Amino acid sequence: MRDLTQCVVTPKVNTTGFDTLGAAVHRGSTIVFENAQAYADRGKRGDDGYSYGLYGTPTTRTLEAKLTDLENGARTFVVPSGQAANTLAMLPFLSSGDKVLIADTAYPPVRDFANRDLARFGVTADYYDPIDIADLARKIDGRTRIVFTESPGSTTMEVQDLPAIAEITHRHGALLMCDNTWATPLNYKPLSLGADISTQALTKYISGHSDLLLGSLTVHSTELIEPIRATLGRFGVGVSPDDASLVLRGFETLGVRMRHAEAGAMKLIQQFQESHLVDRVLYPALTTDPGHAIWKRDFSGASGVFSVVFKPGISIHVPPALDILKTIAIGASWGGTRSIVAPMPVSSHRSVTKWKGDDLVLRVSVGLEDAEDLADDVRAMLFDIRHRSLR
Ligand SMILES: *Cc1c(COP(=O)(O)O)cnc(C)c1O
Repeated sequence: MRDLTQCVVTPKVNTTGFDTLGAAVHRGSTIVFENAQAYADRGKRGDDGYSYGLYGTPTTRTLEAKLTDLENGARTFVVPSGQAANTLAMLPFLSSGDKVLIADTAYPPVRDFANRDLARFGVTADYYDPIDIADLARKIDGRTRIVFTESPGSTTMEVQDLPAIAEITHRHGALLMCDNTWATPLNYKPLSLGADISTQALTKYISGHSDLLLGSLTVHSTELIEPIRATLGRFGVGVSPDDASLVLRGFETLGVRMRHAEAGAMKLIQQFQESHLVDRVLYPALTTDPGHAIWKRDFSGASGVFSVVFKPGISIHVPPALDILKTIAIGASWGGTRSIVAPMPVSSHRSVTKWKGDDLVLRVSVGLEDAEDLADDVRAMLFDIRHRSLR
């Protein structure tokens, strides 16, 4: 082989015996074949074969296999974000004239997608009260193809009765989707409770380090694999093996991070509850939470994300008081090693349920910092809010 050729040919080295614990990063768009016949036959190898980087690499498939096991599913697809997971889980199953029923407390960009994009394609989006089974039963009909759940709901944390929703959904021949980002499949298994597709923002707890965006959709039965696989291919959706390998690395500590986040959340919640500025904390692991009974029945743990509802007239003083925080960062997203807060409006993201009280709650995600530093921050913030409210 001459030099210029040598420069572009990757030599094969012996890899036998190199059994590592982590997953290798396999980068590749082109996949080469042994001979012309193998290339011609590539489509016959089924879902597991490799034909082009877009359709999966050993790295992305390792992550998918791990998620499939944890979600008790038949197959997982990783996609570029949690939002992409939710939209791409719906698209293969919807046609003009169909209807989707979305929990009123779903992640707001899902509402946006349904109201704008699905509407343009002739699909009607309707919303139901996440905790009122009768409301869902009234709205579901023969046109309904998908019922979308997210439990607990974004920001306001309503826990949905998934088995009951599954019964109604399936009786009408529709598919049940569940966004499982808050609990992760470590603490909640929607597919074992009747959901057909479980989606996640891996961006949050699974990757756990606030340094990438990725999502997943896991299906309960094999019939759902092909429509999703084909849609992802046609839309040109693939995922970088580098990102997938970072998720695989973060994944290994998911168990300890989740336990720590739950314990840390409980401590901070107590501190908020002791303040007379706080009306209530929304977190289903609290025995006083309206969703606690279903949470206790269906979940095996909580996460570190909760929302604080302040007494009437107080919440206006919350955003400026955030500037006093030293350890806790201000920002969107959650589930990383750093504690994060974000003031969240609620009413603008609801259409069939009424949010009572001030239209701002404080969403908190507890990270891995020293608990005393977090407590100091919360103490200083509550003091500042009180001070501002007395001025
Ligand atoms: C963050 C989030 C998403 C979107 O995830 P991205 O990766 O940021 O697109 C979807 N669902 C829920 C419940 C989320 O919290």
